[in-house]
Amino acid sequence: MQQVASENTSEPVLAALVGDDCSWCAAGTLAREEFKGDAAVVCEECGTPAARVW
Ligand SMILES: [Zn+2]
Repeated sequence: MQQVASENTSEPVLAALVGDDCSWCAAGTLAREEFKGDAAVVCEECGTPAARVW
């Protein structure tokens, strides 16, 4: 049985997104941040969350 909801499982997904170009604006780069108290990857330029762990 697989457990996919744990924080540890989700971390590599966030880490893989950090440093990628933003999908929503031309100049932005994705960085690790917290979004509403959850781990997330947010664009430094436009603030759009690219991924989020619930
Ligand atoms: Zn952006």
